[in-house]
Amino acid sequence: MKKRILVVEDNKTLAKLIAKKISVELDFEVDVAYSLQEAKLFLKRYKYFLNLLDLNLPDAPNGEIVDYALKLENRVIVLSGNIDKDFRKAILKKNIIDYVNKSGVNDVNYIIQTIKRVEKNNNHTVLVIDDSMVFRKQMQSMLENMFFRVIAVAHGEEALGILNTNPNISLVLTDYHMPVMNGLELTTEIRKTYTKTDLAIIVISSDKDEDTTALFLKNGANDYIKKPFSKEEFSCRINNSIEALENIQEITNHTNRDFLTGLYNRRYFFANASKYFEDAMSNSEPFAIAMIDIDHFKKINDTYGHDTGDKAIVDLADILRSSVSSDDIVARFNGEEFCVLLKNVSTQKALKILEKIKENVGRHVTLSEKNEEIKFSVSIGVATTHDEDLNASVNEADMMLYNAKQNGRNQIVVN
Ligand code: GH3
Ligand code: MG
Ligand code: MG
Repeated sequence: MKKRILVVEDNKTLAKLIAKKISVELDFEVDVAYSLQEAKLFLKRYKYFLNLLDLNLPDAPNGEIVDYALKLENRVIVLSGNIDKDFRKAILKKNIIDYVNKSGVNDVNYIIQTIKRVEKNNNHTVLVIDDSMVFRKQMQSMLENMFFRVIAVAHGEEALGILNTNPNISLVLTDYHMPVMNGLELTTEIRKTYTKTDLAIIVISSDKDEDTTALFLKNGANDYIKKPFSKEEFSCRINNSIEALENIQEITNHTNRDFLTGLYNRRYFFANASKYFEDAMSNSEPFAIAMIDIDHFKKINDTYGHDTGDKAIVDLADILRSSVSSDDIVARFNGEEFCVLLKNVSTQKALKILEKIKENVGRHVTLSEKNEEIKFSVSIGVATTHDEDLNASVNEADMMLYNAKQNGRNQIVVN
């Protein structure tokens, strides 16, 4: 079911413009109300992901709707034409997400960006560390209001333990002065394991020393927030760090993955598997490297067209992905040629997995653009020995693949 957004705004043109933009650019149901009375009916009927509320309605001219919606535990973005500083401050004290002007097209775009932001925040976990329970709770509530998942702990050691067991944490928000391990020691400790692009660290402190900010930034903090701070500064800084993290992760993903199948590419394979290869060599851990290539693939292209050939490649990628465990590496090397690294397996176990892959491919049907049923087979070359380096073992697997092709295809050859 689609999530819903409620827009309450008595300027009908503006209300419709916002509603239209939301439903075109984002995947939400939108309801529009023009008065407090209408809004009350909607709020009774549905649970809303987000509410965009005008402060000045015909039957509620002083922002009464904000308190009403907040009392029902709704998340609120305030729309206002009023730019009076004190009024704005008073509204921002309430538990709202943001206070947005609504005078121009840019403001509507800002609203859309804000909705996109909070929706993505839902995928991020923030770890809050502060020895003051009051402040911990306050930050937790502000962050949850911004749609983040939050874990809050009282000291540094506890935080390190949480980081070990929760690899998905995006952001650490830490106090400076705490007993046993202070924020600076914690930051230094975290940076031994996580880079700035793995995990963002923001420090919040009322420390008066003017050198503190630089000290933290030099030791690996992404940002520093001085207490006291406004709620807007807080949310802007948090969102900035999270956005930078997302952008870097997206770029990394692009350089590591193959566009057609979403599998890792050859570059990533060698960068990542080399380290494993060395460790496996020193621990005498058994492994297998398999080169997998579609038989007579050119014929599929020639008979059904390049797009159908692409579909066969994607289907094989899906089969490979679902046949190995999450620690293994599946990469597309080029065209219809894939390389799979099976970690910590005996030759016997590896052959079992690869035999299963060969059978699944044999049973699989790829549909052409015109719904013709296409079947294909694969040849597989396997290396299970530690040669000089990873490259040599991959070459060995490639040689075995060549032998499989020479022997008549649709078979597995192991060295
Ligand atoms: P063999 O059984 O010996 O592997 O023969 P083959 O036809 O599968 O292999 P060959 O290397 O002769 O031809 C592979 C073809 O794959 C040639 C190339 O045009 C095509 N190809 C390469 N990359 C892509 C791709 O991304 N998509 C599609 N559809 N075709 C590709
Ligand atoms: Mg081929
Ligand atoms: Mg080929």
